[in-house]
Amino acid sequence: MRALLASGVFVIASTLFAACAIIDTDDPRPVAECVVCRFNGDLGCVRVRIDETTPFADYKGQRYYFCCEDCRDAFIAGPEKYLRPAGEGR
Ligand SMILES: [Zn+2]
Repeated sequence: MRALLASGVFVIASTLFAACAIIDTDDPRPVAECVVCRFNGDLGCVRVRIDETTPFADYKGQRYYFCCEDCRDAFIAGPEKYLRPAGEGR
């Protein structure tokens, strides 16, 4: 399932930004940013609606939410990379 999803998302995301769920602005649930997608410039997936099924990780006392489990796994593997302010270290 995950491999299929990853390859499918890659193909779709490379052609259009509708790979991730569209955020309905009428939905009252809070929205967070997927820091992995923000880092990757995948703007179509950056906004993540928070509910009981949203993947998340706690890091240094802060809770981060992700658009998918793949992004969460990538974050856990190297959180500092994704939390670094844009442009720093270049
Ligand atoms: Zn993501």
